[in-house]
Amino acid sequence: MTRTFELAGLIRSDNFIDGAWTPAQDNVRFAVTNPASGEIIAEVADSSPADACAATNAAARALPAWRARLPKERAAVLHRWHALIMANLDALGALISLEQGKPLAEGKGEVAYGASYVAWFAEEATRIYGDLIPQQQRGKRMTAVKEPVGVVAAITPWNFPLAMIARKIAPALAAGCTVVAKPAEDTPLTASALVLLAHEAGVPPGVLNLITASRDHAVAAVAEWLHDARVRKITFTGSTPVGKYLARESAETLKKLSLELGGNAPFIVFDDADLEAAVAGLMAAKFRNGGQTCVCPNRVYVQAGVYERFGALLAERVGALKVAPATDPAAQIGPMINSRALDKIARHVDDAVAHGARVLTGGKRLAELGPHYYAPTVLADATAAMQLNSEETFGPIVPLFRFEDEAEAVSAANDTPFGLAAYFYSEGVKRIDRVARALEAGIVGINEGAVASEAAPFGGVKESGYGREGSKYGLDDYLSIKYLCQGNLE
Ligand code: ADP
Repeated sequence: MTRTFELAGLIRSDNFIDGAWTPAQDNVRFAVTNPASGEIIAEVADSSPADACAATNAAARALPAWRARLPKERAAVLHRWHALIMANLDALGALISLEQGKPLAEGKGEVAYGASYVAWFAEEATRIYGDLIPQQQRGKRMTAVKEPVGVVAAITPWNFPLAMIARKIAPALAAGCTVVAKPAEDTPLTASALVLLAHEAGVPPGVLNLITASRDHAVAAVAEWLHDARVRKITFTGSTPVGKYLARESAETLKKLSLELGGNAPFIVFDDADLEAAVAGLMAAKFRNGGQTCVCPNRVYVQAGVYERFGALLAERVGALKVAPATDPAAQIGPMINSRALDKIARHVDDAVAHGARVLTGGKRLAELGPHYYAPTVLADATAAMQLNSEETFGPIVPLFRFEDEAEAVSAANDTPFGLAAYFYSEGVKRIDRVARALEAGIVGINEGAVASEAAPFGGVKESGYGREGSKYGLDDYLSIKYLCQGNLE
């Protein structure tokens, strides 16, 4: 049951519909490339609305039998899937690094992280309780039961090609839903490998379907799901404009939505912080995945009394980071995902410097390594007038903003339409309580830079979206409550 694969054995280039690998109906393909070199890794199915519809047909057909399975039977399938993912950790980690670019150690770390959601939801599947409502009238019994919402469409980004899709598929299957999924065009191979292992684990035909599409074709293929009334839920991780578009377009059939969108996280260092711990926490939070993470600190606020010392400590650590392809065992920062990403990073740094920022380290492309590398950068004297204040950079750039007092820092931190993660460092108990309550974010790291866990609720407020992934709350997004009122009992 825990079969292991070589990397090449995990690569699939067709859609997976109704339990079979199937080319796109009009036989079109697009290239998936290695961001470190630009080399083509595979040519995968470029799907049309007809393929999306075939996936929905399969998911709708498979729904009654899957939702009728006992929770512990669904849990057993998920446990087998988890075991297979872990048994193939090395090959999956290498595949993530190959198509996404993150260092191999991080690729493997992502496999274990993504798998932890599968194990978690395998367990949660058996704990979907309802309520017996205290009696209100004689002869009447009122109960609330939870049911799967139905067919779920999952649309995922490229920054965590395995974890983002695992933490959507696992709760959906645990709840008794069936799934149609479309991974990001930059990183479809890891998602296909995951689906291959799900099939191997015994997920029945039609319960989990995956289509791949280029960015041009994705819009029409996904629109097919948005307008199909049989698709009852959209779960999406990606940018805020695309999240808003999905919400607008799916309103016609009033689908349930989970949207995990952009971040622009603040990171505040107060002058009563443990500075060494703050630097270590910032390094962990900021440079994971080369800064291409929605919970990455994007704006770092440092109190005036410790500003210069913190900047110097940080620049020393950042300047020592090893930038290299994922295949180099010493690599700490890999290539950025594509040239669009690199251009945005360069634009933000150039704009900041033009507005008076001081480069403490980095500040340039590393063209000698390949087309998509940028030096890890620390910028002092950042101001609200700079583009990197209002846009998420999604790269290895730390801008340091100076502040005088707590109220100013909290107000600046909250001065954004986003509210996913926020971080702060302080040793003051009263300040910790005040600031934790004042920050407008779904996730707050307090003297901690690594916040993600399958046991904790992950999600945002404001324009960072709604819904939660992981934790005991993560299943609710895939369930609806049915109220049963039985009368005439006496
Ligand atoms: P990023 O800028 O990081 O690529 P996006 O929000 O553009 O983030 O992409 C996240 C996911 O949404 C990807 O799977 C992408 O293909 C998909 N996507 C992007 N635009 C659309 C769209 N208009 N309709 C449907 N899916 C889309």
